[in-house]
Amino acid sequence: MTTTMQNWREKLTNGKATYKFEEGNAKMRDILGGKGANLAEMTRLGFPVPPGFTVTTEVCNLYLEAGKKLPPGLEDEIKEQMKVLEEKMGKGFGDAKNPLLVSVRSGAKFSMPGMMDTILNLGLTEESVKGLAALSGDERFALDAYRRFIQMFSDVVMGIHKTEFEELIREQKKKQGCKEDRELTPASLREMIAAYKAKFKAELKRDFPDDVFEQLKLSVEAVFRSWDNPRANVYREREKIPHNLGTAVNVQCMCFGNLGEDSGTGVAFTRNYNTGEKHMVGDFLTNAQGEDVVAGIRTPMPLDHMKEVMPEVYKQLEETSEKLELHFKDLQDMEFTIEKGRLFMLQTRNGKRTAQAAVRIATDLFKEGKLTKEEAVMRVTGEQLDRLLHPYIPDAAKEEARKEGRMLAKGTGASPGAAVGMVVFSSDEAAAMGKEGKPVILVRPETTPDDAHGMLASKGILTSTGGPSSHAALVARGWGIPCIVGCEALKISLKDETIKVGDRTINKHEMISIDGSSGEVLLGQLPLQVPTDLSPETKTILEWADSFRKLGVYANADNPKDAQRARSFGATGIGLCRTEHMFMEQDRLPIVQEMILNAPEAERLMRQVHLLEMDYEGAAEGRKKDEARHALEAMKDRLKKPWEHYQSLLAKLLPVQREDFRGILEAMQGHWVIIRLLDPPLHEFLPAKDELLVDVTRLQTVKQAAPGSYDKTLAEVREERGDARLTLESLESLLQRVESMHEFNPMLGCRVCRLGIVYPEIYKMQARAIFEAACELVKKGVDARPEVMIPGVGTLEEMEFTRKLVEGEAADVQKRMGVQVKHKIGTMVELPRAALVAGDLATRADFFSFGTNDLTQTTFGYSRDDAAGTFMPVYLDKKILKVDPFQVVDRVGVGRLMKIAVEEGRQTNPNLEVGICGEHGGEPESVEFCHTLKLNYVSCSPFRVPIARLAAAHAALKEKMGEVSSTK
Ligand code: PEP
Ligand code: MG
Repeated sequence: MTTTMQNWREKLTNGKATYKFEEGNAKMRDILGGKGANLAEMTRLGFPVPPGFTVTTEVCNLYLEAGKKLPPGLEDEIKEQMKVLEEKMGKGFGDAKNPLLVSVRSGAKFSMPGMMDTILNLGLTEESVKGLAALSGDERFALDAYRRFIQMFSDVVMGIHKTEFEELIREQKKKQGCKEDRELTPASLREMIAAYKAKFKAELKRDFPDDVFEQLKLSVEAVFRSWDNPRANVYREREKIPHNLGTAVNVQCMCFGNLGEDSGTGVAFTRNYNTGEKHMVGDFLTNAQGEDVVAGIRTPMPLDHMKEVMPEVYKQLEETSEKLELHFKDLQDMEFTIEKGRLFMLQTRNGKRTAQAAVRIATDLFKEGKLTKEEAVMRVTGEQLDRLLHPYIPDAAKEEARKEGRMLAKGTGASPGAAVGMVVFSSDEAAAMGKEGKPVILVRPETTPDDAHGMLASKGILTSTGGPSSHAALVARGWGIPCIVGCEALKISLKDETIKVGDRTINKHEMISIDGSSGEVLLGQLPLQVPTDLSPETKTILEWADSFRKLGVYANADNPKDAQRARSFGATGIGLCRTEHMFMEQDRLPIVQEMILNAPEAERLMRQVHLLEMDYEGAAEGRKKDEARHALEAMKDRLKKPWEHYQSLLAKLLPVQREDFRGILEAMQGHWVIIRLLDPPLHEFLPAKDELLVDVTRLQTVKQAAPGSYDKTLAEVREERGDARLTLESLESLLQRVESMHEFNPMLGCRVCRLGIVYPEIYKMQARAIFEAACELVKKGVDARPEVMIPGVGTLEEMEFTRKLVEGEAADVQKRMGVQVKHKIGTMVELPRAALVAGDLATRADFFSFGTNDLTQTTFGYSRDDAAGTFMPVYLDKKILKVDPFQVVDRVGVGRLMKIAVEEGRQTNPNLEVGICGEHGGEPESVEFCHTLKLNYVSCSPFRVPIARLAAAHAALKEKMGEVSSTK
């Protein structure tokens, strides 16, 4: 015996393997599964439930762990339970005169509809079928039940596919010359039963089991095994249901909906699951068994029809429906059977519903006094809210496409919402087609700032590399364009303008559909459901959420339009304005490039001047002093031209930046706007080195080898680069300057505050622009409130240097313009060292903002741009990581650093404001974590603001209910 099986009962909760329905309740979902727990609850409350018992999920896990072996003694326990059922029903299991029949159904903690197995009519044998015929007075019915049982048992338990039997039904109907199953005569059915059994024997080389306990044992095992079937595994992956929960087995006395026209079966929802309307809906069939509804053999009638044909039972169902809804305080999805005019409830569970219905039902249940506001807010999920804000592909359409093999691949859903359009591989073409009003999906291995115009004109963006904080993802999210990144299954050839996936090729202009929430890419044009404004019910739920949450919700926005949108979605501040996005706009980029290319030389010479000034100051009077003065003057002469040129370029950018800031500060008046000084490595703004090298080599080669073609080649390069004055020499010089700024590891190189320390003129210009804009507004009576954020600080000295620099400009501008501006100066915490010295940093910082994109990158040592396209999918597959830490904050590691930073920062600066602006700021689990850390706010893209508001309320309410801990 395996070790799993020794003393197995000791491992069970309460030492129990099976529970009669009357022994359980709704709270016991962990061991009884959802169905078992609710059947127990309904039994306890006196609803008409056919008696039964549940074998627990714990037994399923033991069975699977033991290599698919039932624990010893379980069979005897099941027999005991059957004896109780026999007594209750006054029938015998396998009895030839008065047989008891049962159903055997799966039921996991979380509903997994249709993923696992069910067996009905169990207990029929050659003998007992006669008893059923006598008892029901309907031989045809009894034989049909037996036929159904053999088919279902053979399929579900023994693995002979049901189509094999359906073929036999067709043959029999043809032989008898009838169309419907119902018309088959007892003689035909008997023939079929014989044929079914022959089929069984031929396939499995054994007789169909005629022992009811063997039937039952095999069925229980089959249900346990079905927990591990491929479709159940896929479903759990998709729904994030843990794989170690196991399924329970419910054994329940059968009642029959197919005993004539006063019998029937159906499914009912307490309210409309599509619209949320308060009206019972569902499907109903007379003279039928449950699987007829599910299998689509007969088309069911709408539930309303039941009111006409069985008014009394309908009324009873309606009353039951109301009571169940009131008891479970939620929309119920119920299964019922009517046996000769008597109603039996076979299942109730919280019903699945559309996002629209979820919101309406939650608000209605509050109005009807069935839910408190808190409960109503808890009823709506972030995912549902997300659906209400973006176009989406209805699940049914997706399922259909999946069945037709049109599901192409799955990447990382980086910007929510769905889009349908023609595949286009170049941004120029996307922009041109977009202008003509054609829907396009821009497909690229990755995007760069040069793609902005194409991205803006696209309905959706799809890349094969990059993660949730790649360029494509950030820009798309900011603009609310659905986007999938890191879809590595797609082999994109820009040259051939094709996508290859598996053995399929998708050509330019073919239609595809993408779901930026789930990351799914589908072939063809799927229908889109488009939400309009937030519905009044959604606004109500969000207002209630606001009254419960402790966290502020800010938005990440880089321009006035996004700021406006953020406000309309309820943001009460800007948590991150990335100034580099302003630099990247097409009309500014040439000035920015020129400025950057001139910065190193000008700043280097300026540093020389400073050194020589110090030499001069320190030199003794006389020859030494004269020499020092000469050296200083010579250096000042050398500096003059490059410095003036550099300053003139910065001076061109100053008014442009000022205008940017003025727009955002004005849009957010009365609220804080956190503006981050320049962050990325400078070469991100420069022309690509490899492309320059190609053009220079091409021109050099042609010049030497085929001078006659030189002018033509030069013209081509000029055309491609859009610069009519370009020469080989200017290109060589550009290449040299770009090469001189090359870094091997730019994300750890001269970026963030390091850039501002090496090139202080850039930060000074930005600070000046911020304060000039704010002063202008304050003068006009607008309450402008900038917070200047220094990125990537890791030492106190960096903080002091940059703070002084900003303070200098702030003082200067305020004095010059004669007004004071409320402002703060703080830093991002996005390096482990920053978190570890947070106590020091907070002495010179008014606020911290967690840049969890970089903090995750630097804590794990994972490149955030490369992870999604390389090891992350493998890590997730192999369960090295449970979730992608770039999407959900890693509480254990990154979270620990955050905790240290909050605690130690607030110790030295009790007024320290702390927030988060990494992508995690709009992700519900991370928002919950931020709540536990007692941050002041979370900041996320404008479209995620409502989700963050709801998630912040959920966190506060869960804490109140004792369900939240910071280490979960
Ligand atoms: C971060 O690092 O979390 C952040 C917000 O900055 P960025 O993504 O721009 O580096
Ligand atoms: Mg960062």
